[in-house]
Amino acid sequence: MLDKTTDGIESSRGLTFVRQSHPRPVDANERTRLLENPGFGRVFTDHMVTIRYNEADGWHDARVEPRAPFQMDASSAVLHYAQEIFEGMKAYRLADGGTALFRPEANARRFRSSARRMAMAELPEELFLDSIRELVRADIDWIPTIPGGSLYLRPFMIASEVFLGVKPSSEYLYAVIASSVGAYFKGGAPAVTLWVSEEYTRAAPGGTGAAKCGGNYATSLVAQAEAIRQGCDQVLFLDAAERRWIEELGGMNIFFVFDDGSLATPPLTGTILPGITRDSIITMARDMGLTVREEPYAIDQCRADAESGRLREAFACGTAAVVAPIGQMKMRSGDFMIGSGGPGQTTQRMLAALTNIQRGNAPDPHGWLDRLD
Ligand SMILES: *Cc1c(COP(=O)(O)O)cnc(C)c1O
Repeated sequence: MLDKTTDGIESSRGLTFVRQSHPRPVDANERTRLLENPGFGRVFTDHMVTIRYNEADGWHDARVEPRAPFQMDASSAVLHYAQEIFEGMKAYRLADGGTALFRPEANARRFRSSARRMAMAELPEELFLDSIRELVRADIDWIPTIPGGSLYLRPFMIASEVFLGVKPSSEYLYAVIASSVGAYFKGGAPAVTLWVSEEYTRAAPGGTGAAKCGGNYATSLVAQAEAIRQGCDQVLFLDAAERRWIEELGGMNIFFVFDDGSLATPPLTGTILPGITRDSIITMARDMGLTVREEPYAIDQCRADAESGRLREAFACGTAAVVAPIGQMKMRSGDFMIGSGGPGQTTQRMLAALTNIQRGNAPDPHGWLDRLD
């Protein structure tokens, strides 16, 4: 497996993209109409990127082509054993009219580590970055100009070998699609309510919790459905061993803000997805002179701290929603409110600080923006 991976990286150096423009792109007026209120994940652009991998040729056949259905054999490995990984990132229109990605090299690195965990071929980071830039350039007119709008990019990779044996696939299809999206929460972020899942867990030690693989989402859906039935917005998962330590939401990391102004978030022990938003917030908060602890936090302690007033705020974070205030938690043993139940000051400060960097409205001391023009 290692040798094959190395081959893949070597043979991909200098891979050039074949560019094939869409013969019938969406009409400009229709696109303008779609971009006025795109929602999330429903409006797709004209093009996609595909790159193939096999053991003989390594990474090859890189294309920017019209977005179209895949032709796929019913025996393709991904359809049976779920060897699949993905990423989520955004291209932003900047205040000065330019376009930028946010920390894309972090997504490239995480995509490789997800691949390693799922025994898949590792896409070289430069090729990942090239693929993203190629697609954004091809579909640059699809970046919405509405407040909070962006072009959501979805790189993913599937096991494409036609074989029913249970083993790592010898062939992969990597692709990138793009979706024009509006602000995740219209009119500012409302506080969400979390259902604390005491029955289902998301990830176990030694499992795939730190990999961005579709399977993690598949197993979280029954818990998310339970959260909705309980009148909540999202599910909060506890650790698999003790059902005691707070881990994260189905697709977002979590932060807590205390009465002494400090922040805390669960540590990356292998069962939590290492969010790029999480990492950015830790860095920004420390830049502001705030204390941030990466430490385990028990749900009982969380409830006690919320009731005593020591815990003032909580928020979830991720690329899609950026920062989502948490107003309330519900669990079998009862409900409790966090702070006032509405968006807290530090939460709003973090949201503003991050979006200001992403939109080019504030200095970028860590060089997080990757400008395309
Ligand atoms: C993608 C994801 C996150 C957030 O990661 P970002 O890089 O901040 O977008 C958090 N938790 C899970 C389970 C995820 O899949």
